[in-house]
Amino acid sequence: MRPPVLDPLFAPVSTLPGIGPKIAKLVSALVGGQPDRDATVSDLLFHIPHNLIDRRHRPGIAYSENGDIVTLDVTIGRHQAPPRHSKAPYKIPAYDDTGQISFVFFHPRRDWLEKTFPEGERRIVSGKVEWFNDRPQMVHPDYSLKPEEAAQMPAIEPVYPLTAGLASKTLQKAMRAALERVPHLPEWLNLPHLQKNGWPDFYDALQTLHQPRERQDIEPQSPYMQRLAYDELLASQLALAMVRANMRTLGGISRKPEGKLQKAVIDALPFQLTSSQSNAIKEINQDLAEPTRMLRLLQGDVGSGKTVVALAALAQVIETGAQGGLMAPTEILARQHFASMMPICEKTGIRLALMTGKDSQKERRLLQEKLDAGEIDLVVGTHALFQGSVTFRNLAMVVVDEQHRFGVHQRLALSGKGQGVDVLVMTATPIPRTLVLTCFGDMDVSRLTDKPAGRKPIKTVSVSLDRLDEIIGRVGAAIAEGQKVYWVCPLVEESEKIDLAAVEDRHRVLQHALRQPVSLVHGRMSADEKDAAMSAFKNGDTKVLVATTVIEVGVDVPDATIIVIEHAERFGLAQLHQLRGRVGRGDKPSSCVLLYKGPLGETAGARLNIMRETNDGFLIAEEDLKLRGGGEILGTRQSGTPGFRIARADEHADLMEVARDDAKLILETDPDLKSDRGQALRSLLYLFGRDAAIRLLRAG
Ligand code: ADP
Ligand code: MG
Repeated sequence: MRPPVLDPLFAPVSTLPGIGPKIAKLVSALVGGQPDRDATVSDLLFHIPHNLIDRRHRPGIAYSENGDIVTLDVTIGRHQAPPRHSKAPYKIPAYDDTGQISFVFFHPRRDWLEKTFPEGERRIVSGKVEWFNDRPQMVHPDYSLKPEEAAQMPAIEPVYPLTAGLASKTLQKAMRAALERVPHLPEWLNLPHLQKNGWPDFYDALQTLHQPRERQDIEPQSPYMQRLAYDELLASQLALAMVRANMRTLGGISRKPEGKLQKAVIDALPFQLTSSQSNAIKEINQDLAEPTRMLRLLQGDVGSGKTVVALAALAQVIETGAQGGLMAPTEILARQHFASMMPICEKTGIRLALMTGKDSQKERRLLQEKLDAGEIDLVVGTHALFQGSVTFRNLAMVVVDEQHRFGVHQRLALSGKGQGVDVLVMTATPIPRTLVLTCFGDMDVSRLTDKPAGRKPIKTVSVSLDRLDEIIGRVGAAIAEGQKVYWVCPLVEESEKIDLAAVEDRHRVLQHALRQPVSLVHGRMSADEKDAAMSAFKNGDTKVLVATTVIEVGVDVPDATIIVIEHAERFGLAQLHQLRGRVGRGDKPSSCVLLYKGPLGETAGARLNIMRETNDGFLIAEEDLKLRGGGEILGTRQSGTPGFRIARADEHADLMEVARDDAKLILETDPDLKSDRGQALRSLLYLFGRDAAIRLLRAG
């Protein structure tokens, strides 16, 4: 169904010169294709340079500054080869009217040097100048060309984000070949819109971004970047709007029970609902009563009590005799939801089950039989729940805890599991409005803004790692008073081994210093081991839990009152805030100790200050957006906005709104994308990987 004109762009990168199977893997990891296949040429083309080298800079030797990349017009002097077996570098002096420079080589091939830098001849040489003991030198120049060949050297070279093992020249060469494959595509944007903004067409935008003439060309606000960012945003908004329209036409089911079961759930709680919890439940009940499908985002800071809202909502559909599901991002969290819902479900007669990847085939078969027979009302699990072969007798509602991986594909997968399935997505991330739009399109939003009564604010301090002993002493005193403590060690993905050593080391030190058993949880442990450690801490057998950031989302031990976050300077604001939310869940005053290793960089310092100053998740999210851009808020490591290659939530927020309106108008006038523009838009959806939505269109 993909328009054949796009074929060259969907060939794997391994069809490009210089990219063998091994390099293809590196490139794929770098430019983000699908996990199960190599990246495509189009994936590569959306890898935009982040910098450029201007080789037009020709100041002369004496006027070249330390660190500058310059092009020199020089006469080559007499080679200075190091003595045999010496480790000293090979040096080649060279001159121009202003002075002398040394070209420096380690482990060179002499015959190549003699050919490339022939003594007494003129050469155009380009590379980075470094001043060393008041003398300029250039280590391994990038180019050395005869004057008559100087035109072969690109005046301006794009610099790409790279990965270990991938050479800049390899990527540049592949990119040049990729650019030659870009076809002229029919325009999918509105011409007046293009002209008003002074944007180029798709072809020119790509060509310019990869062959920039000025640094401005590759900045987020350049017309070239704006054009592509808009394309990407439009693709995403269009796909979201198509899914939504489809959900509407498929029709939801009006679910209007008496509300007895929901009331029973609420009555069974050992506390009063906050007013925003009650409001959210009311809004959800209204959605459920409508004959359209619910798609609602429940936003609430950590500890604001989203799970209770979810359970009340689920009770509403269960009362009608239908089934509900809750999908958690990790197995630990699935188990925890299961455990925390169990007492209420038992009291109210909701038949609850847990499904994880660890279930044996027999357990799974048994569970499946019960789901089919309608003997289970509510099933809690990980992604496995809604993939593959799992079937339901009458699935009516799904709650998704933490939104990150819940895109268009997942929504479509869900549609197949039941009739008019209503969806509630819960997130602890206080996403600003613009980001909600970016990631979800027109989703309805309920917010939990007030904390459950009796919660005490968390006191936050930052302390240098030099004072570790003092902190351990204070932890010891707190435990003696009966308090419980989380101790978090950071996880740096690049060096899992070192992380593991660090967290195990800290575990030993604490156990020794505190003279008592300490629980340990990290990503390399089995689910059973993790569970055992967590429950020892939860039921008080141990008073301290050392953990990597696996405790980040949702873990609930209400009587833990202290959290120590080691290497706090390495965490983003959103993450720090999430972690801190592990404490302050009961009625006792809590504290958070940010242990940092100095000296602190500017951003890290600013982050720790914000953490000390406020407990307000929405404020922190806004500050985070300012400090780091949207990617960090949604917890991704790379800069940029998750799910997007080019568009950025912070830089392109205005385009976002326009794209949403544009998408809406398109579907109003051409719901099946049949017009010329509609056909062009289909290509756009493919280009940005949003083509799953096309399957929703009526054939033709
Ligand atoms: P979230 O998922 O939003 O981080 P949880 O749903 O895990 O928060 O709730 C955190 C804790 O607060 C749980 O122990 C829960 O039982 C409790 N809780 C929820 N709502 C209230 C309330 N209205 N009053 C008191 N405690 C509450
Ligand atoms: Mg939760």
